Amino acid sequence: MKKDIPPARRNSDGEAAPCLKTVKDTSAHGSMDAESHLDAQLLDSTFDSVFLHDLEGNFLYVNEAAWKTRGYTKDELLAINLHALDTPEYARLIKTRIKALLENGGGVVFESAHQCKDGAVIPVEVSVRLIEYSGQNLFLSVVRDISQRKQTESMVGNVLDSIDEGFIIIDRDFRILTSNLAYAKNVGCHLKEIIGQPCYKISHHIDKPCYLNGEDCAVKHVFDTGEPRTTIHTRYTAQGQPLYVETKAFALDKNDQGEVQTAIEIVVDITQKKQLEDERHRLAFFDPLTRLPNRRLLLDRLEQAFIASARSSQYGAVLFLDLDHFKTLNDTKGHDVGDLLLVEVAGRLRKVVREVDTVSRQGGDEFMVLLQNLSDKERSAINLASLVAKRICASLDSPFNLAGQEHHCTASIGICLFSGYDSTVHELFKYADTAMYESKIAGRNAVRFFDPAMQAALEESSALEADLRQALSARQFTLYYQPQTESDGRIIGAEALLRWNHSNRGMVSPLAFIPLAEENGLILPIGRWVLEEACERLAAWASISAASGIRLAVNVSARQFRQPDFVMEVQEILKASGADPARLKLELTESLVLVDLADTIAKMQALKAMGIGFSMDDFGTGYSSLSQLKCLPLEQLKIDQSFVRDLGIGPHDAAIVETIIAMGRTLGFHVIAEGVETEEQLGFLVRSGCHAYQGYLFSRPVPAAELERLLATGYIER
Ligand code: C2E
Ligand code: MG
Ligand code: MG
Repeated sequence: MKKDIPPARRNSDGEAAPCLKTVKDTSAHGSMDAESHLDAQLLDSTFDSVFLHDLEGNFLYVNEAAWKTRGYTKDELLAINLHALDTPEYARLIKTRIKALLENGGGVVFESAHQCKDGAVIPVEVSVRLIEYSGQNLFLSVVRDISQRKQTESMVGNVLDSIDEGFIIIDRDFRILTSNLAYAKNVGCHLKEIIGQPCYKISHHIDKPCYLNGEDCAVKHVFDTGEPRTTIHTRYTAQGQPLYVETKAFALDKNDQGEVQTAIEIVVDITQKKQLEDERHRLAFFDPLTRLPNRRLLLDRLEQAFIASARSSQYGAVLFLDLDHFKTLNDTKGHDVGDLLLVEVAGRLRKVVREVDTVSRQGGDEFMVLLQNLSDKERSAINLASLVAKRICASLDSPFNLAGQEHHCTASIGICLFSGYDSTVHELFKYADTAMYESKIAGRNAVRFFDPAMQAALEESSALEADLRQALSARQFTLYYQPQTESDGRIIGAEALLRWNHSNRGMVSPLAFIPLAEENGLILPIGRWVLEEACERLAAWASISAASGIRLAVNVSARQFRQPDFVMEVQEILKASGADPARLKLELTESLVLVDLADTIAKMQALKAMGIGFSMDDFGTGYSSLSQLKCLPLEQLKIDQSFVRDLGIGPHDAAIVETIIAMGRTLGFHVIAEGVETEEQLGFLVRSGCHAYQGYLFSRPVPAAELERLLATGYIER
């Protein structure tokens, strides 16, 4: 049914062209009129369909595109009611939209589908406006065919869904606007659970953006800089399995200020690739049976060790280990049992070395252990390496249970030290191998050093160590006392110096056995004995008037001082002996003090609170700074004898000694010089303001009875 349209303007067919005004348009001025009068010719020339209909859905006007696109004649279309024209869904949709329009006015735009005369359906974008026309409320719909766009979108959607990479579009609030199937699969969700959700919630199961947790977030980078970014993230599945993903993000669109509004993130699951790589790495660098590093990895680590050793001047060592009689086990019990032993041995080896050391399997029954940072002194390094070798032998000592059968196993070990690049990796292997053969020749279950001189040194230390272990119980230790005096020879104190009176070796210097005792821990019982002996002496002197006023200095070694209960040990010894703590002075070296300054200060303060004093021994040979010195509760600096010895010889020693004395006095320390042998040295020290002296010029270290005799006169005559 065609409604009469009031005459307005005529188009070329002589038809009425609607003259329209929107309901809300209150500006019905003359200038607006010209704009709002639509020309039907103009309307017919657009590609969009234009409909004018009333509230009941009766068309008042349709343009050419409207009837042509749908396959009707103009009259046919005008005769159909809007609600009969399209699918019932569309009719329902338009009803609700129109209702909204009537309530709110203005216009609406929505997507829908239109049906053609032949039944074909075309996707459309509809914009509807409520307008006033001749005092009547009418609807003006402009309908655009969006088939092309929809086709492209669906093609893109299909393509995105068919790729293996996850694809999402994210807005500035990290909300996911679009996702493809692969992404949904990667995060283990349905597509509909993802859209509109923050990406951190979906992929990391957290409540705030992942960059706030310190993650390197590619999307955040894109929003901040506009630049693309690729990162690798580790995620965990609901079952706690790690999932490695590579995320690439780049900007999709920017606002007028150039700020990125939406970003694309492409997510590639690289878990399998990574597992393959890890597996390849494991196969290339680890022994499949024992899971120990293989020869190739060891070579690599050894190269690194050379570099580190050259830099730190620390010795390292390789231990070459071959199981004794392994072939017999293999031949009699079979390879499976042999394999069991190798796995067990590998486990035991790993347990006896430090985390930083490398235990590797070279093949067969051969293992190699790389030890680093042993010591900067060759002798100590030899001792430490042989200590590890002994620990290895001990660890193999207890029987192995191989498939229910007890088995005993020993090993022959060859050791070769290295320092920096003094030999090549292959030379080193050869030397260690040679040394291992020496062990086999020596009757197996043995340890040999490659270098005969090293071997001799080791044997000597071993013998010394065995003797040292006897020394305490055999009462071979004794203390000598070296007087400390003022410049005129008046005795103010003494230093207790350890002597080892060995039945065959004679009097052994502490310099020969204290470092060894430090390494093997014997310094702990020895040091304790020294303190006990010195304190008993002090207690005895308390009742001898000539001796009661002197201070006794006792050397404390690093390992002894570092014992957690050192303070308590000193307290116990003082109590047991009854010695006056104020008479006791502990000598610490600079290197000891600096190792763990906080622990040092705490212990020194606890001991000082008991009345004990401290002297810094060998001062000038270490690297303590003024600021460190100031925070130590010291009372005395002891100028190292090397400076005193070279007074008048070395060009700088006089200056060093003067500086130490001046600095010590400024900081309020008592300054004593040790190793004073000549009148010239004494003269210089006196002129420089030194407080006290110790050295052969006054007296050598002497037995207690001799010191007591000297104390009786109070002075030492020169
Ligand atoms: P030190 O604490 O610096 O002791 C001074 C050393 O210099 C002593 O050597 C002493 O005999 C020596 N000496 C003293 N006056 C002179 C001199 O005028 N000329 C020369 N050439 N030497 C002089 P000693 O007794 O052989 O002790 C050596 C080091 O052994 C000590 O150096 C100390 O570090 C350590 N030591 C000695 N007894 C003990 C001890 O009971 N416990 C600990 N942990 N270490 C000790
Ligand atoms: Mg000393
Ligand atoms: Mg000294």
